[in-house]
Amino acid sequence: MVESGSKHTARTEAPSLIRRAGYLLVLGCSSRKRQVKGRVPALELYDGVNFRVVRAFLNQHGWPPGLCIKILSAKYGLIEATDQVEHYDQRLDQATAYNINSKVMESFANFGEAASVFVNLGKDYLPAIKGIEHLFDKKRIVHAVGGIGRKMAQMKQWLNSLPSKTATLPGVGSGRHYLYFFPDWDDYVTEPFLHETENESGLEKTKQYAHEVFGADATPYDGMLVSLAQLYTGKGALSRLKADTVKKTDLRKAMKIPERLLLFGDCGAFSYASKDKPPFTPEEAASLYHRFGFDVGASVDHIPLAEIVIKNDKGELVRQVLTKSKRRCRMQLTAQNAEAFLATCKRHRYKFVPVGVIQGLNTESYVHYVHEYLDMGYQHIALGGLVPKPDSEILAICSAVRQAIQNRTRIEKENVWLHLFGILRPMIQPSFRLLGVSSFDSASYLRKAWLRSDQNYLAADGSRWYSSIRVPLSSSKRLKEAAKEKNISEERLSEMEMRCLLALNNFDGSHKAHLEVMESVNNYGPLLQRRGEDNHFFEKYNQLLNDRPWEKCHCEVCRNLGIDIVVFRGAGRNKRRGFHNTWVLYNKILRGH
Ligand SMILES: [Zn+2]
Repeated sequence: MVESGSKHTARTEAPSLIRRAGYLLVLGCSSRKRQVKGRVPALELYDGVNFRVVRAFLNQHGWPPGLCIKILSAKYGLIEATDQVEHYDQRLDQATAYNINSKVMESFANFGEAASVFVNLGKDYLPAIKGIEHLFDKKRIVHAVGGIGRKMAQMKQWLNSLPSKTATLPGVGSGRHYLYFFPDWDDYVTEPFLHETENESGLEKTKQYAHEVFGADATPYDGMLVSLAQLYTGKGALSRLKADTVKKTDLRKAMKIPERLLLFGDCGAFSYASKDKPPFTPEEAASLYHRFGFDVGASVDHIPLAEIVIKNDKGELVRQVLTKSKRRCRMQLTAQNAEAFLATCKRHRYKFVPVGVIQGLNTESYVHYVHEYLDMGYQHIALGGLVPKPDSEILAICSAVRQAIQNRTRIEKENVWLHLFGILRPMIQPSFRLLGVSSFDSASYLRKAWLRSDQNYLAADGSRWYSSIRVPLSSSKRLKEAAKEKNISEERLSEMEMRCLLALNNFDGSHKAHLEVMESVNNYGPLLQRRGEDNHFFEKYNQLLNDRPWEKCHCEVCRNLGIDIVVFRGAGRNKRRGFHNTWVLYNKILRGH
């Protein structure tokens, strides 16, 4: 199973612990299982009532420090709740339970003295733990008794009696958190929104970030992630401030960030992934976070990518493979930087919360560095470099990291804050929450508004994606060229464009209006089609006009824009559609309101 037998497991399984520490929950596998694809954490596979209770508890309260959940499985023997397993159909009978007894005892012996052990097993499973009272202090073992309902209630009570604190962030309280940070790359819109048919003369226009458009109370994120990379890329609010003379409140002021939102700084490691070294030393990064008034600051990492893109002597972009040793050097540099970063934060008594960013090559190396960072004294850690990895690998890494953290926090009063950089994976997002991830950031729902060809608008209930209706700007170079090729004059081109905009503006759901939109848009939009591309939008536009999903959304931008929110055209509409997607993500998918 994941990490079993590795030196880290050996190091943290508790023979070295003299104190009674950690909480052990022993559960039997349930025949009722979820229909899962591939390997998932065991905790997610079983669907018996006990597992539902444990999952609900973890989702609501997070992982108590030092809680280890072990499951007796008919197929796998004694496994950790975080081990990756596949669906199977096998029941544990008494004979098998007898057979695995010695292995189970060995695993319990390796656990060391526990502060409390809770056993919730059916009678067929009991032979597997025969002799448990010789390994743990009898007074500290609680056996669930009675029918399944009573047993479940006792387990709930036991779980509720465990310490449940996790290291926190400024102003967010000490409860369970699953915070969403919105990365900033100058994603603002010009307010008010003006339709092409409206007269804009004399109107005062302002640039507004999503938190200004929605207002402080309805902002669909808990904080903003601002990258120090803005300082040299020339994009973003940081690039417009002077680090030497800046006041601590200037960045918040410039971005009009409401008090309740956290300001999280990172180094933007993907922006310098092709360079040999990060552009900042840990001391410089810490000093910048301090001067710009960040609440949270990430250490300086360097992604150990398998391949980078660099400029050759002729100035052409070419791919370059990074050797294993170079990749390892980047991981080590990341860890050295983390250590120096924490030291400098302590030395200068900076007020922001330091977050140690871990880079790894595989599950083992991420776990290795979790131990190192906790040794350094970090209470907040983040996993970087996950973005190019497939869901299954990310899930395996997060599960193993959780297991490592649980082993390590057996003597702690507080658990560790865990952040995932750049990760939003709809299919496994609930698993992240279950695995005790405290926060993440991603701009993918914002960017889907204009980057994906047929998934641009998220339904108000988060259940499906819609395409958007393409009405490109007639003034764009590409469209002008496409029109010229088809002998369409510029004047005719802008007439065609205006016909689309008017048809959309006049759309009232009637059959006639529907046809007019379809006809005008299908005459005009496909001019820009890439070669070999069918007009596959026809069906999708029909669906949009039939469903009218914007009418079902109560977010500020949909209420203001109406049908224009599903029109693919320029930043005014596209970014607002991204704001809407972010709003649905936050309110419906993450919070389930
Ligand atoms: Zn909306």
